Amino acid sequence: MIKELTPGTVVLVGGGPGDPDLLTVAGLRAIGQADVILYDHLAPNDALADARPDAELIPVGKWPRGKYTPQEEISRLLVEHARAGRRVVRLKGGDNFVFGRGGEEWRACAAAGVPVEVIPGVSSAVAAPGLAGIPVTHRTVSQGFTVVSGHVPPGDPRSTIDWAALAGAHTTIVILMGVKYLPQISATLTDAGLDPATPAAVVMAACMPGSRTLRGTVADIADLAAAEGVTPPAITVIGGVAALDWAHEAPAGVST
Ligand code: SAH
Repeated sequence: MIKELTPGTVVLVGGGPGDPDLLTVAGLRAIGQADVILYDHLAPNDALADARPDAELIPVGKWPRGKYTPQEEISRLLVEHARAGRRVVRLKGGDNFVFGRGGEEWRACAAAGVPVEVIPGVSSAVAAPGLAGIPVTHRTVSQGFTVVSGHVPPGDPRSTIDWAALAGAHTTIVILMGVKYLPQISATLTDAGLDPATPAAVVMAACMPGSRTLRGTVADIADLAAAEGVTPPAITVIGGVAALDWAHEAPAGVST
C-alpha cells in the first residue's frame, strides 16, 4: 500500500462505514499526509482530526438539507489541486467504487493527465449488516449476495435492475440508498415470487449515532421502517441471513 503520497497525485481513499476506527491504516496515513482533502458527509469526518493543521479541508458532495457540490465541480477541484502540485485525498464513505463515483473521478483525473491511486475502504454493504450481527452469506443459508442501489424505484425508466431475477436467485439482496422506495422494491420482489415470509432487516446508521436495526419479513419491512421513522443512511438486507443475529443469539439452531 501507499506509504508516501506523491505531489500532484489524487488518492481515492475509502473511509469505511462511519466509525473512524474502521478506516484502513493506509487511509489514515494518507489523511495525515495530504495537502488537500475533499470529503463527503458520509466519510468518517472525525478522522479529519488526523489531517495536518495546514491541510485544506473541503466538504463536497451532498450534505443533508445543505450544500450540494455537483460531480463535475468535484472532479474539477481534484484536477485543479493536483495540477498545482498538491497531495490530494478524495475521502468517501465506505469504498469509493461502491456507489461512490470513484470511476468518474478517476476518469476525470486520467483525462487531465493526473495520476490516481486507490486505497480501498470497508464498504457499508458488508459492514453495516455485519455490525448488526447479520452475515451476508452463511454456508447453510445463502451462497452469495447481490448489492444493488434502490435510489430509483423498480419500473422507473432509469432502473436497470432485474428485480424478478433477484427474487428467484436464492441469494442475499443488499439494498443501498433504498429507504424511500422500500415499499415499491419489496412489493416488486414478492410479486415476482419471493416468499413474503422471507426475512428482511434494515440497518440504519451503522456505527454512527442513532444506530438501529429493524427486523421483519420482506412483506412487512417497509411498513416497519416507515413506522419507526427510518432515515438514510440505511441498508436493507433481504434473505434468510436477515433472521440471523450473531450479536444477540448463540448460534444454536443454525448449523455451521
Ligand atoms: N461508498 C459507500 C456507499 C455510498 S451510497 C460504501 O461503500 O459504503 C450511500 C448509501 O450507503 C447510503 O444511502 C446507505 O444505504 C449506505 N450506507 C453508508 N454508510 C452507512 C451506514 N453507516 N449505515 C447504514 N447504511 C450506510
